[in-house]
Amino acid sequence: MNKILITLLFSVLTIFPAFAAESVTLLRPAQVFDGEDMHPGWIVLVRGDSILYAGSADDMPEVDIDQTLDLGGETLLPGLIEGHSHILLHPYNETVWNDQVLKESEAERVARAVNHVRDSLLAGVTTMRDLGSEGAGYADVGVRDAINKGVIPGPRLLVAGKAIVATGSYGPKGFHEGVDVPLGAETADGYDDLVRVVRSQIGRNIDFVKVYADYRWGPNGTASATFTQAELETIVEITQSSGRPVVAHASTAEAMKRAILAGIETIEHGDGATAEVYKLMVRNNVALCPTLAAGDAISQYGGWNKGVDPDPPRIQNKKKSFKAALDAGVTICFGGDVGVYPHGDNVRELEMMVDYGMPAGDVLRSATSVNADLFHIDKKVGRVRAGLLADLLAVNGDPTENISALRNVRLVMKDGIIYRQE
Ligand SMILES: [Zn+2]
Repeated sequence: MNKILITLLFSVLTIFPAFAAESVTLLRPAQVFDGEDMHPGWIVLVRGDSILYAGSADDMPEVDIDQTLDLGGETLLPGLIEGHSHILLHPYNETVWNDQVLKESEAERVARAVNHVRDSLLAGVTTMRDLGSEGAGYADVGVRDAINKGVIPGPRLLVAGKAIVATGSYGPKGFHEGVDVPLGAETADGYDDLVRVVRSQIGRNIDFVKVYADYRWGPNGTASATFTQAELETIVEITQSSGRPVVAHASTAEAMKRAILAGIETIEHGDGATAEVYKLMVRNNVALCPTLAAGDAISQYGGWNKGVDPDPPRIQNKKKSFKAALDAGVTICFGGDVGVYPHGDNVRELEMMVDYGMPAGDVLRSATSVNADLFHIDKKVGRVRAGLLADLLAVNGDPTENISALRNVRLVMKDGIIYRQE
C-alpha cells in the first residue's frame, strides 16, 4: 500500500475514533507467536484498541464480529519493540554525525524524524526507545507527544531527551578554543551540577535518563571512563526519585562496571565487556543492548566490503563479546542503534543477532516480551494477550525459523488501528 493511502487511512480513523473504539476484528493467522511461544491455530480478537481474546478458536467468546482478516500462511506476533533508536539522526553515509549536529536546523531534523517514525511503524515497530536527540534538544519529546495525539503516525516512543555527558568528553570536537560549538548532549559534572541537570531533564518529561559512562576521549581517541562512581550514583539516585530509570552508553569494562554498580538498567553497546562484567550484569539484572548493526554499518562506511573482505578487528571482537554475553546468560535487549543505518531497516539487528549465534526464537522474544519487561511496559504491550493493547504484526512465513520473514510484512496494527495491510 502506498504511503498516501496509509496516511489517508490514518486520518479517517483519527477523525472517527468512536468507530475504531467499538469495532471488533477477528484475525485468523496460521499461527500466533505470543511473545514467548508459537501457537499454531490460535485466533485473535481485537476490540477497540485492545486484545479481547487470543487462543484456540474453540474457546472464543461470543461477540459480534465487524471484520475478519484471513491471514492464512502468516504468523501473527506482537509489534516489535526497538530498544535503541535515534529518530533525529539519519545514516552517517548520507551525512556524517558532526554535520548533522552542527549544520542541520532543528526544523530539518524534526522533518526527517517525522519520516523516520513513519518508516519504523510501517516496518512493524510499534514501540521504540529513543536514546538521545543528539543535539536536537527535546525534539524527541515533541515527536513522541505528536504521535500520541494522533498528529503523525509512528511507534509509541520512550525518549531520553538530551542525554548527559561529562565536560570535555563528547563531540563535535576539534575546534579552536574560541569557537563555541553546540554539543550532541548536555554536560554536567559533580554533585550540584548533576542534580540540577538531571532534574531539569526530568522536568521536560523525558521517559528515562541516558548517561555516557565512557566515550572516545582517551589517548589517541580510545574509549575511556568519564563519570566517577559517585557521579553515576548521583545521576541514578536523582532519576530514580522521579520514578524513572537510567541507562548507560558504555563500551569499556571499567565504565560498564561503574554503571552497573550505580544501578543503571541497560548497557548500550558493551563491546569491551569481560567475563567478570557479564557476571556482574547477570547478578544485578542489567541487560545488554548490543547494537550489532551499528558497528557493522560504521565498518562498512569506513570501507569494509562485507562478505568479500575478512572481518575487521572491530567485528571479530563484537562477535566474540556477543557470544560471551549469551554464554554468560546476560539478558539481551533488541537495540540496534537505528539511525546510524536507515530507519525502517530495524530487522537488520535481529538478523545479525541470529548471525552472531542467538537462536531465532530467543531473538524474537528479545524484540517483544523481553524488551517490554525491560522497559516496564509489559502491562501494555509486548505480548499477544487479552487485555493488552492491540499492537500486532503479521508476516509471511515463520520468523522463529527464518528471522528474515519479519521483512515480509503483511499487516501492522497499533492501538487496534491498521496502518499497513497488504
Ligand atoms: Zn545510540
